Order: sequence, then structure tokens, then C-alpha cells
Amino acid sequence: MSEPFQAMILHREDKRTIPSIESIDESRLPDGEVVVDVAYSSLNYKDALAVTGKGKVVRSFPIVPGIDLAGTVVSSTDPSFRPGDPVLATGWGLGETTWGGFAQRARLKAGWLVPIPSRLDAKRAMAVGTAGLTAMLCVMRLEAAGLTAEQGPVVVTGAGGGVGSLAAAILAEGGYRVAAVTGRPELGDSLRALGVETIVPRSEMETTHRPLESQRWAGGIDAVGGRILARVLAETHYGGCVASCGLAASPEMTGTVLPFILRNVSLLGVESVVTPFETRREAWDRIARVLAPETLDRLTRSVSLSEVSKLAEEVLAGRVHGRIVVDPSG
Ligand code: NDP
Repeated sequence: MSEPFQAMILHREDKRTIPSIESIDESRLPDGEVVVDVAYSSLNYKDALAVTGKGKVVRSFPIVPGIDLAGTVVSSTDPSFRPGDPVLATGWGLGETTWGGFAQRARLKAGWLVPIPSRLDAKRAMAVGTAGLTAMLCVMRLEAAGLTAEQGPVVVTGAGGGVGSLAAAILAEGGYRVAAVTGRPELGDSLRALGVETIVPRSEMETTHRPLESQRWAGGIDAVGGRILARVLAETHYGGCVASCGLAASPEMTGTVLPFILRNVSLLGVESVVTPFETRREAWDRIARVLAPETLDRLTRSVSLSEVSKLAEEVLAGRVHGRIVVDPSG
């Protein structure tokens, strides 16, 4: 019988989501081949929706939220993992359909785990987390479609957030000229420190635009959707490509098809939840190679489980910059 451990559990009562921090034991954990001591999780946009109950993220209550986690294998019935192995997991329904990372211990399917690359530790792996994996998947998708640094500037929207900040940093490290769209001019210095060349005020991208605007961007990574994505497409070079991965502004997209049919622009969808293992491993290896530890540390703050609920409101209000790692033992 294992020692009890600390977990955040979401309950649903009278159509309200109620988070509570409880002491539970391993028998409560879902089935799986691998038990992991969770060193860190992270607070993503989707976690904020789950914890506040403001989005239909959680499919069955009670649940431990946290769509990603990193830590050490305690035991495994799968021969791919041994006690002591450093591992991480993102997506696969963690914190949505099965218990996630906001607990000191988790039990998961072996196929969901990726070894933590040797250049990262558990804390930095979660500084990257789902947001950074998604950012890297966007870059890989754009490059597979032919984008190179020589073609011109790449625009990143929602640049102050987790996906946006890490996308900007990855692109800049890869030699791309990066333009960052942000609604927070006060983040200018911080974004420039990541290698961003141009700050574009969000208000400029929200204004009504013509179906085709002057061609400014060789490519784009969009975390916000809505009018801003439509404008990015209208401003993309002939033959350019844009990766859409988020909806922080809106799930709708109000634009025309003219960028596609007159400029050969491509819109590429990116999801990180069920991305196959080999693609994940390639993305994590590249993340570990390109993102300097100091960059990750500068973008990250660490919080305890008791701080998560309040911060979730801040995330949804767009007031958080960079990444929040969650220490379930804190
Ligand atoms: P964050 O909350 O960290 O960042 C979102 C950023 O979007 C904010 O910091 C803000 O940037 C900008 N923003 C917020 N509200 C608005 C608005 N109304 N209009 C325009 N811009 C806005 O979230 P993440 O970076 O973690 O996630 C971003 C999006 O990507 C979310 O929609 C999330 O669900 C999605 N996502 C998708 C994944 C996938 O697999 N496809 C995986 C991970 C995330 P600023 O202040 O700089 O303008």
C-alpha cells in the first residue's frame, strides 16, 4: 500500500466545478502500466477552462486536472520503462477524460510517455509543456510545407501567452525573423529578449481589413483565431503558410477564401493531443536542442496547487505571460 499523496480533484455539483486539494491513495488512480511520481505539471489554457468550469473540457467527474506532467517512473509493468526513468506526458486526454498531472502521483498508459530529453529536467520539460510542444509542432508543420527562414518574416499571434512566447523563441533560435502580435505593449522588452524583431499591436490586427492586404508574412503561427487569423491570412505572401493551433480570441474565423485561391496560401491545422509518438519524440528532441535553459527559466514561474484556481482566472483573462509550472508537492 503506497503512502497517501496530494492531488487537486475537480468535483461537479449543481452545474458548478469545484476544485479541492485532497489526500488520496494510489487505489484511486486510473488503470495504466506505469506509475509516475509527478515532479511538475503546468497550467495551460485548457487547464484553466477545466479548473474554472468555464469550458467543457472535463468529460467525467471527479477528475485530477492537468493536461501534462513530468516526473520519475515508480513502477512499470511495461518493459519499456524502469523505476527511476525520467518521463513526460502531454495530451491523450489527461485532465479531460483521465486523471492528469495536478497530483503527486499518476498512473498512465506506457504509450503516452516520452523520455525527458537529457538536456531538459522535469521542471524545464513542463516549462515547455503542451504549449511548447504545440509551438514546435507548428514550426515542423510549416517547414514540412516548405517554409524557410530566408523567405521572410513569420508572424506569431497571442505572443505573450505560452504557445506564442515559445513559438517566437523557437523561430528566433532557428534564424527566422519574428513579428509578435500582442495586446500587451508592456511585454515588448520581454518578447525582444526572446529574439522577436517586430512588435505588432493586437489592435492593428483586429481592425477591418480587405480580403487581400499587402503581403507581409512568409508564414504565421496563430494561437487566437477569429479576426486576427483572417487578417494574418490576408497578409501572407503568395505561396506562404499559416499554422492554426488555438482559439484564445475566438473559434470562428471571419475571412474570405481569396488568400487561398488567389495567393496559394495554405492554412495548416495543428493539434497536440493525439500526435503519434515518433512525431512527439522528434519535436521534444528538437525543443531540447533549440531552446536555451535560460530562455525557459526566464519565461517560467512555479506555483503550488493552492494557487492554481486563482491563476486559472488570470490565464483566461489573458493576463499571464509565458509559462506557469505547477509543483504538486508545493
Ligand atoms: P495563454 O493563455 O498562455 O495565451 C493566450 C494568448 O492569446 C494571451 O496571452 C494573449 O496574448 C492572447 N489573447 C488572449 N485573449 C485574446 C483575445 N480576446 N484576442 C486576441 N488575443 C488574445 O494560452 P496558451 O498559449 O497556452 O494557448 C493558446 C491557445 O492555443 C489556446 O486557445 C489553447 O487552447 C490552444 N492550444 C491548442 C493546442 C493544440 O493542440 N492545438 C495545444 C495547446 C494550446 P497577448 O496578450 O500577447 O495578446
